[in-house]
Amino acid sequence: MTTRDTEMTTWLRGLPKAELHLHIEGTLEPELMFALAERNGVTLPYDSVAAVRAAYDFDDLPSFLDLYYQGMGVLHTREDFFDLAMAYFARAQEDGVAHVELSFDPQAHLVRGVPLEVPFEGLLAACREAESRYDISSALIMSFLRDRDPAEALEVFEQAAPWHASIDAVGLDSAERDHPPGRFAEVFERARALGIPGVAHAGEEGPAAYIREAWEALEVCRIDHGVRCLEDPELVARLRDARVPLTVCPLSNVKLKVTPTLTEHPLPALREAGLNVTLNSDDPAYFGGGMLDNHVACHEAFGWTRDDFIAMTHNAVQAAFMDEGRREALLERLRGVASDV
Ligand SMILES: [Zn+2]
Repeated sequence: MTTRDTEMTTWLRGLPKAELHLHIEGTLEPELMFALAERNGVTLPYDSVAAVRAAYDFDDLPSFLDLYYQGMGVLHTREDFFDLAMAYFARAQEDGVAHVELSFDPQAHLVRGVPLEVPFEGLLAACREAESRYDISSALIMSFLRDRDPAEALEVFEQAAPWHASIDAVGLDSAERDHPPGRFAEVFERARALGIPGVAHAGEEGPAAYIREAWEALEVCRIDHGVRCLEDPELVARLRDARVPLTVCPLSNVKLKVTPTLTEHPLPALREAGLNVTLNSDDPAYFGGGMLDNHVACHEAFGWTRDDFIAMTHNAVQAAFMDEGRREALLERLRGVASDV
C-alpha cells in the first residue's frame, strides 16, 4: 500500500479544503508548458519535460523566480490562461479542494506585451467554468511585484479599473529580501478606498519586521507565509490576539529552503502559539505538490490528527473571500466531516 492509499489520505481528500495562497502561474506543469510553447511558437531552453523538472532544484526564492518568470513566457492568449486555470481546477477537484483564491501577477505579463484583459478574462472565464463543472468557488487576487516600482503598481491598478469589481483582493509578492512592503502603501490604500482588501507576502525570506510593516502600513487582512513572525514574540502576541490569518505553504518552504526539512518547519510552533494558521500549496507545479500533498506531508511530519486538519480548514474558510452563503455551506460540510474517534 502506498502512502497515498492510506486511510488518512482518503480522509484528507474528502476534507472540503480552501486554498488561500495559490499563484496560478505557479500551477504551470511542464507538460502544459510544452503544449503552450508549441501553440504559441515559443522556444523553450529545455529538450524535454524531464529536463524542466530537473531544473526545479532551487537554492532560494530568487533562483525559483528566475525559472518561474521564464516559464510563464508561454502564456499569451486568454485561452492559455483559461487552459492553465482549468488544468489546476481539475487537479484541485481531485484533491478535494472546495474553494480556491487565485493570485496572478499582471505586471509580469504586461512586461511581455500581454495586455491586462488577457489574464483577467481568461482567468475569470475559468473561475465561472470551475464553479459549474466542479462546484469549486473561487476568488481573484491581483498581485503586485514588490521588486518593481510602486508607482507602476498604482498605474497598473488604475488601468485595471474595468475589472475592479471582479477583484476580491490585491496582493504583494515576488522577491522579498530588501523590498519592504511599506513602499506599496499608496496602491493598497487606493484599493481599500474602493472596498478591495489587501493581502501580502511577508516573513517568508524577509524579516519579522516586514510582517509588522505589511500589517500596519498596508493594513492587510491576511499575511501570506508569515513563518518568521516567531522571531518577534511581541508580534506573535498581536497577530494571535487579532486572529490574523497566516497562509502557510509547507512544501514550498522546504523547496525554497526557508526550512531545511518539513519536520523542522515552524508550523507546530505557530499553532502552539495560538496563531490562525492555514495550509496552502503556493506554486504547486514547482514545489512538489498540491493541497492534498501538503496535507499528507504535514500528517506524516507532525502526526497531526483529523481534528488538527479540521481546525485549520475552518480557519481557511473563515478567512476566505467568499459570500456568506457559500461560507455557511462550507462550514456546514465541515461540521459533517468525521473527526477523531
Ligand atoms: Zn506565494
